[in-house]
Amino acid sequence: MTFSIHGLAVARGIAIGKAVLVASSRVDVAHYFIKPDQIDEELHRITQARAAVMTEVQRLHQSVPKDAPPELPALLEVHMMLLQDEMLADGVKHWVTDRLYNAEWALTSQLEVVARQFDDMEDAYLRERKGDLEQVVERLLRHMKGLPTSLPQPAERKPSSSWHQDHLLDDNHEVPLVLIAHDLSPADMLQFKQSVFTGFVTDVGGKTSHTAIVARSLDIPAVVGARNASQLVRQDDWVIIDGDAGVIIVGPSPIILAEYAFKQRQAELERERLARLRHTPAVTLDGQAIHLLANIELPEDTRIAMDMGAVGVGLFRSEFLFMGREGQLPGEEEQYQAYRRAVEGMHGLPVTIRTVDVGADKPLDRTAKDEAHLNPALGLRAIRWSLADPVMFLSQLRAILRAAAHGKVNLLIPMLGNAKEIHQTFQLLSQARQQLDKKSVAYGPLRIGAMIEVPAAALSLPLFLKHFDFLSVGTNDLIQYTLAIDRADEQVAHLYDPLHPAILHLLADTIAQGAAAGKEVALCGEMAGDPGLTRLLLGLGLRYFSMHPTQILRVKQEVLRADTLRLATWARHVMAAEDPAAEILKR
Ligand code: PEP
Ligand code: MG
Repeated sequence: MTFSIHGLAVARGIAIGKAVLVASSRVDVAHYFIKPDQIDEELHRITQARAAVMTEVQRLHQSVPKDAPPELPALLEVHMMLLQDEMLADGVKHWVTDRLYNAEWALTSQLEVVARQFDDMEDAYLRERKGDLEQVVERLLRHMKGLPTSLPQPAERKPSSSWHQDHLLDDNHEVPLVLIAHDLSPADMLQFKQSVFTGFVTDVGGKTSHTAIVARSLDIPAVVGARNASQLVRQDDWVIIDGDAGVIIVGPSPIILAEYAFKQRQAELERERLARLRHTPAVTLDGQAIHLLANIELPEDTRIAMDMGAVGVGLFRSEFLFMGREGQLPGEEEQYQAYRRAVEGMHGLPVTIRTVDVGADKPLDRTAKDEAHLNPALGLRAIRWSLADPVMFLSQLRAILRAAAHGKVNLLIPMLGNAKEIHQTFQLLSQARQQLDKKSVAYGPLRIGAMIEVPAAALSLPLFLKHFDFLSVGTNDLIQYTLAIDRADEQVAHLYDPLHPAILHLLADTIAQGAAAGKEVALCGEMAGDPGLTRLLLGLGLRYFSMHPTQILRVKQEVLRADTLRLATWARHVMAAEDPAAEILKR
C-alpha cells in the first residue's frame, strides 16, 4: 500500500531508499555496521548480556519480601519470560547476521518490531506488556554499556540515540538507505557526514531547528516535523523522500518510483549545470560585488566551502566542537588546532569564528536535555553561557587569537543583548591577550563582530556599531525571538515567517544603519541561503551572505541575474505590503 506523510522540507532533492528506523532508546545506544567476521562475537555479547540480566532478575525475584504486593514477583516473572522469548532472540540474531547491525542496534530494532506487534494486540493486558519488553531491552542495553541494570526512575527517562560515524562507513550496502527517526540531536546529525544514508526524516523539529540546519549542510534530502513518520514507516519499507515538497512516500508503486527517479536525474543535471558557476565572480548586472560566504560546523567543512567557491567562512559554529563529549569540553590547545585547520583550509580567505553557542536546541549532551530548564531558548545560552564561565570562555578566546596568527580571522559573538555583555566580552578578550602575552604565545589581529539576533540588539544598533567592526544578522534567532516562535517546535512552524514585516524592517534597518556607519553587515541565518529571497535581500542592500556551502551556487545564479538598483525600489514596495510573501511570488 502506498501512502504519504507530510512534514517540513529542509534539504532539497529526492532520495529513494529502504528505511532504517532508529528506535528511540532510553539508553544512549551506538549504531554501526559490523564486519561479517564479527557476527559471532556480537551474538556472544548478546548471549552474555541475557545471561547476566537473567541472573540479576532471578536474584531480585528471590529477594522479593514475603509481604510485597503479588504484582512484583509476577512482573519479574514476565521479565524472565521475555528474556527467554524466541521472537526477540531470533529477531536480534537476524539483524546481526543478515543486516550486520551491532548488538545494541539489533536489540533496539527488534524491540521496535515486537513492540508494534504488542500495539496491535486486542487484549489490553497483553498490550501493556510492551512496557515490560522495553524495560527488559533497556536492562540488556545498560548491561552492555556497563551501566547498572536497575532501571532509572521514570522522571529520568528520555529518548535518545547516538550514532558513530566511523562505523557508518559501511561497504556492505549497495541498497540505498534512508534514515527515519523520532528525533536526532544536532550532534547526532553531524555524525552522519559521509554516512551511508541518502536521506533523513525526523518526527520532530522546525525548519530552522539546529537538527534541520545540520541536515541541510549534509546536502541530502531531508524532511523534519513529519509528526509520526517513525511510527508509520516500518524497517525496510521502500521510501521516497521529497526534500523539495517535504513529503515522504512510503511503499511507492512502480509508476511513482519511475516519476521520482526521473526527478532525481533532473536534479542531478541541474547540479552539474550550477557547478559551472563555481569560479564565476558573484557580481550583479549593475556591477555590485556580492560576498558569498560559507557557514560551517567543523574545520573539515572548509573543503566543500572552497569547492563551492565561497569567498570566506561567514559563520563557523564552534559549538559543534563542544557537543556530544559527555561534558568534557575541548581545551585551548584542541580548539586552537581545530580553528587553525579551518583557517588554513580557507587558504588566506577570512574565517569568522563564532564563540560557543550552546543551549536551547543545542544541548552539550543528549542527557543535558533532561535538565528541567523552563524555557531554554530564553535561558543561559550563547554569550550568556560563556560569560557565566569565564575560564572556559577565556580558553576559547585564546585559542581563536592564536589561530588568527595563521590567517584572517574574525571573531563573532552570539546573542548579545546589552552594553554590559559587550563590555564584559571586550574585557575578557583583552584579558585573553594579556594571558598570551605573559606566556609569549603568538597570536594575530581579530576583527570583532556582533550577531544581531535578539530584537533588543536590532533596536539598539548605534551601541553595536560603536563597539564592533562588523555585524552579522542571525535571522534564525531574530525571527524566533521577534515573533515568539520556538524555531525547534514543529507545531508552530507555520508561524515562523522570515517575511513578516517586523523582520523585514529590523533587517532593512540593520543593513541601512551599518552602511551609514561604514560597517559591514552580513546575514548568516537560513534566509541567506534561500535563493527565493536573494533578490529581496539584495534590494534591501545586503552584500554579505553566509550560508551552507551547498546553497552558494544557487544563490550566485540569482545574484548574476540581479540589478540592485531596480531591486531596491521593488524591495521598498515589498516592505510596505501587508503580505510581502505574496509580492515576492508575483515577481
Ligand atoms: C541564527 O540565529 O540565524 C544563526 C545563524 O545562528 P544559529 O542558527 O546557530 O542560532
Ligand atoms: Mg542564532
